[in-house]
Amino acid sequence: MSVRPDYEALPPAPLGPGPAVLALDVGGTTLKTTVVDSTGGVQKVERLPTPRGPQAAEGIIDMLSGQLKRLRATRKDLKLEAVGVSVAGLVDEGRGIGVMASNLGWHDFPFRERAQKALRLPVAFGHDVRAAGRAEYELGSLRDCRNAVVVVIGTGIASAVILDGTALVADGFAGEIGHSIVDPYGPACACGGRGHLETLSSASAIARSYGELSGQTIAGSREVLELALAGDATAQHVWTNAIDALAIGLTQVISLIAPEVIAIGGGLSQAGPQLFGPLGDALDRHLSFQHRPRLVRASLGAHAGLLGTALAARALVRTEPTDDGSQTRNPFPPRYTVSEQSEPQVSSGAAGFATSVRGERHP
Ligand SMILES: [Zn+2]
Repeated sequence: MSVRPDYEALPPAPLGPGPAVLALDVGGTTLKTTVVDSTGGVQKVERLPTPRGPQAAEGIIDMLSGQLKRLRATRKDLKLEAVGVSVAGLVDEGRGIGVMASNLGWHDFPFRERAQKALRLPVAFGHDVRAAGRAEYELGSLRDCRNAVVVVIGTGIASAVILDGTALVADGFAGEIGHSIVDPYGPACACGGRGHLETLSSASAIARSYGELSGQTIAGSREVLELALAGDATAQHVWTNAIDALAIGLTQVISLIAPEVIAIGGGLSQAGPQLFGPLGDALDRHLSFQHRPRLVRASLGAHAGLLGTALAARALVRTEPTDDGSQTRNPFPPRYTVSEQSEPQVSSGAAGFATSVRGERHP
C-alpha cells in the first residue's frame, strides 16, 4: 500500500503485562494497526485506507504479512505471539469467517484460516464493534457491569450485546440494531429495508437529512449540531428527530434485555451533552416500569476496537492451544462466576413466575 501512514497517540489503557501481539482493526473507511508489547505498552497507531473491491480481503492478509515481516526485521526485541484482526460487517467469530461486508467486498471469507496460514501465528478474528465492546468491558466504561450494550454511531450504527459477561454473536447476526425498524415509512436503507435506525440517527443520516430539507450542502453531523445550537430551526428539527429515533431504538433494546449500561461510542458520541442530555430525557419519557440503564459515553474513544482486538489476541495465547488456532465461541471470558444452584429464586406471587435474580451484581 503506497499511502503514507498517519500516526497518532493512543490514550493510556491499563492492559498490563502479557503476550506481545499485533492488532488490526478494519473499519469501513480506515484500518488501524498497532502492537501491544509484553509490558502492555501500546505502540503508536498506524492508519491506512481500508482496501476495497473483490481483492479487499486478500489485500488485508497481504498487508498483515508485510507488516509482520517489517516488524521482525526492525524490532528484534519484540516477540510477537499472536495477531488480532477485527473487521466491520457480519462476522462469525466461531468459524473465523467474514460473512459479509457489503461496502468492503468480501463474502464468506475465511479470515482466520488464511491469516494463520500466511502469518504462522495464532489469529483471533472478530467483529470490530464487538472488539470495542470487549475493550469497554475489560478496560473502559463497562468495567462494573455484566449486562450491557455498546452502540457505535458513525456512518452506520452497530452494537455489541454483552449478557452476563458474554458477547452475543449468533453466527454474526447479533447486534444489528442499526437495521431495526424505527419508522416503517422512513427512508430507504442501503440494506434494502426501510426506516431502519441508521437511516435516521447515524451521523451520515443527520447530515443527509439536513441537506435534503435545507437544500444546502453540509460537511457532517457536527455542522448540523453547530447550526442547531446557533438557532437554525431546520437543524434543530433534524437533530431532535435523530435523537427521538435513537431513543425509540434503544427503548426496544432496554425492554428486551434490560442492560445495566448503554455505552455510546463513534463519531456522534462526540456531541457529548447535546446528545446524552436529550437522549436521556427521551428515554425517561418512553420507559415506564423498565429498568432505566445508565447512559454513558464509551470511554476508550476511537481506539476501543483496536484495544479489544489486542485483548482477544492475548486471550488466545493465554487460553487456547496454538496448533490449530481454534477459538472459543465466546469472545469474552466471563468475569463473574455465579453458581446457578446457590441462586435464590424469587416468586412474584399469584402469577407464580419464578424470577431469577442473576441480574444482581456479584462483584
Ligand atoms: Zn438497514
